[in-house]
Order: sequence, then C-alpha cells, then structure tokens
Amino acid sequence: MANVIIISAPSGAGKTSLVKDLLSKVDNIQVSISHTTRLPRPGEVDGIDYYFVDSVKFNEKDAHGDFLESADVFGNQYGTSISKVQNLLDSGIDVILEIDWQGAEQVMKKINTKSIFIIPPSIKSLEERLNSRAQDSDEVIKKRMNQAKSEISHYENYDYLIVNDDFDKASLELQSIIHSLRLETAIQKEQQKNILNELIG
Ligand code: 5GP
Repeated sequence: MANVIIISAPSGAGKTSLVKDLLSKVDNIQVSISHTTRLPRPGEVDGIDYYFVDSVKFNEKDAHGDFLESADVFGNQYGTSISKVQNLLDSGIDVILEIDWQGAEQVMKKINTKSIFIIPPSIKSLEERLNSRAQDSDEVIKKRMNQAKSEISHYENYDYLIVNDDFDKASLELQSIIHSLRLETAIQKEQQKNILNELIG
C-alpha cells in the first residue's frame, strides 16, 4: 500500500529543491507530473516538468474526469491526472503531489493522504528567493509575493509544517516524514506480513 503525499508551499519557499533532494535520497517515491496550460519556462521540458497543454485540451481532459484535482493558479490551469497517480500507486510507489492549497483541499476530500506545507523563514527570504530565480518577470514576481501570504494562510489544513531555513535540516525533516509514514501499522501490516505470520500465525 503506497502513500499519496501532498506538498504545498508558496512560490519561492524552496519546495522544488527540497523535493528533488528527497527523490535523490529516498527510494520508491516519485512526483506526479501535472498538466498545465502555463507556458514552459526556459529549461523546462514537456513530460518531465509538466505536460504542457493548451486550454482546449485541458478542459477536454477535465470534462472527461481525467483529473483527481484541478485548479486555476496565477491565471493558469493545473491538474493532476488520476490514471498516472494510480499507475504509480499500483506499482507500490509513493506519489508526491506538488500542488497548491485548492488542489490539496480537493484531494484531501477524495482520498486518504498525508500533507506537508513548507514555508520560508521570513518574508525577506521569500522575496530574495523569488528575485534570485530571475525566470519570471517583475510583474509575475510581485503577483506571487501577494499570493504568498494567502497561500500560507491555509497551512493549518496540512498534517505537517516544515520551515525551510536551513536546507539540510528541512530536507532531513521531509525525509523523516516519509520514513515515518512508511512505518505506520496499516502499511507495515502488508509489508511485514511474512514476519508477522511467522510470529503470530
Ligand atoms: P509553477 O507554475 O511555478 O510551477 O507552479 C505554480 C503553482 O501551481 C505552485 O503552487 C504549484 O504547487 C501549483 N501546481 C503545480 N501543479 C499543480 C497541480 O497539478 N494542481 C494544482 N492544484 N496546483 C499545482
């Protein structure tokens, strides 16, 4: 039985780097690749970072019930494909959904999941991180700063809260959550059935 783990954060909290680090250190875990109508940023690759689609295709998939959740974020549409998540779960792979609070709310209502919210240590560091990315225009950065507070205001709906001040510490905290989820009795009952059978028949 594999886990679905939601990870949300305001843009610039370091979520993407933390998740990348997690994937390099923990086995049997993958990120679900979302569909989006947003245009690719420099260096982003279709099928790796996102499935980049136009709004006609997106709405078609949405109407067809292909999405576990979907939301409008910063004027673009984003959605998580049910079939891709299911395929990973069927292979026993834990699935990370890097989605916003709106999508998180939908998923929490539909399926059993654990959720993690990541925040930066201060508004100043958020501002610095958004500026240093230099991939978005000033207008987009300003818009995202304004959105950050409203995104963060939803932190209480999540099971875990990580402050990304020291990257290595935050990364260890993220790994610890995944490891502890895998030790839950409902999961271990299945994983350790041979041992349990031998011990108590
Ligand atoms: P970006 O365009 O910077 O990659 O992502 C912008 C926001 O959209 C982030 O908060 C990210 O978590 C969110 N996002 C990415 N994929 C999805 C998705 O499939 N569903 C939802 N609801 N949000 C998503």
